[in-house]
Amino acid sequence: MTANKDFLKTTAVDPQEAAPWRGIVRVLAQRRISSTGYELVLERGDLAFTAGRLVTIHGRDVTEDRSYTIASGEQDERLHILYRLVPTGALTPQLIQLQAGDELELSGPYGQFTLRDPMRPIFFLATGTGIAPCRAFCRTHPDLALTVVHGVRTPDELFYREEFESRYRYQPCCSRTAHDAYQGRVTQFMAEQDTPPTTHYYLCGAYEMIYEMQALLHAKGVPNEHIFIEGYYYRLEV
Ligand SMILES: Cc1cc2nc3c(=O)[nH]c(=O)nc-3n(C[C@H](O)[C@H](O)[C@H](O)COP(=O)(O)OP(=O)(O)OC[C@H]3O[C@@H](n4cnc5c(N)ncnc54)[C@H](O)[C@@H]3O)c2cc1C
Repeated sequence: MTANKDFLKTTAVDPQEAAPWRGIVRVLAQRRISSTGYELVLERGDLAFTAGRLVTIHGRDVTEDRSYTIASGEQDERLHILYRLVPTGALTPQLIQLQAGDELELSGPYGQFTLRDPMRPIFFLATGTGIAPCRAFCRTHPDLALTVVHGVRTPDELFYREEFESRYRYQPCCSRTAHDAYQGRVTQFMAEQDTPPTTHYYLCGAYEMIYEMQALLHAKGVPNEHIFIEGYYYRLEV
């Protein structure tokens, strides 16, 4: 498999930008939104950000610091963090313990996975929690010409489905049980679609999807400069 490792640049911090904000914020709510998915609602503090950027949530020491894309719009009063519990993970088992009134330390914004051109037709291709920046884009720019393709294992992981379905072209893809979704992976679905080369393609989530999707889009004639990527994790389980 040939893969473009340029994705490593997408999360680099721009050395020219102002130092990130760092501070303590209060937890306003914690919602369980699927069997493994949670949403933290946090005070925003003085954090200014561009849709698609992320924060670091600081754990007990630096080995527990983890990145989370802000799932809120630029003008929203609160920060929404969509996350999946990794039972063997270092930080997320601590995050699920948080309740309204608790505090946590975060810093940011970081990352470069921002919207390049709100006027351009867009495919947002995500797996799992990789849908979070798409929500930030939509809440900031509601009139996007957007197609959302979201790949998950089971339908309960189709986070924010109603918000996307009510306004945009929306295609759920479920690898295990499908119900009213496409049964299969995002890459299988996209292999069957028209992929205009002038459209912008945002890829977010598991690295395996990103590598495969990049190769597929290249093979279908999409130039690399119209593909934007943010890798979250390597999928160790199917
Ligand atoms: C740029 C960037 C943005 C990110 N944004 C988000 C986000 O918005 N929401 C979010 O849930 N995570 C996000 N992540 C992943 C997040 O930083 C943590 O890795 C994740 O929450 C697990 O943390 P942990 O300490 O509990 O587990 P860790 O000890 O870090 O990881 C344990 C295992 O879990 C796997 N894993 C990590 N994240 C996921 C996931 N989301 N789904 C399935 N398996 C996973 C890893 O491959 C690893 O093998 C992002 C990562 C990056 C690099």
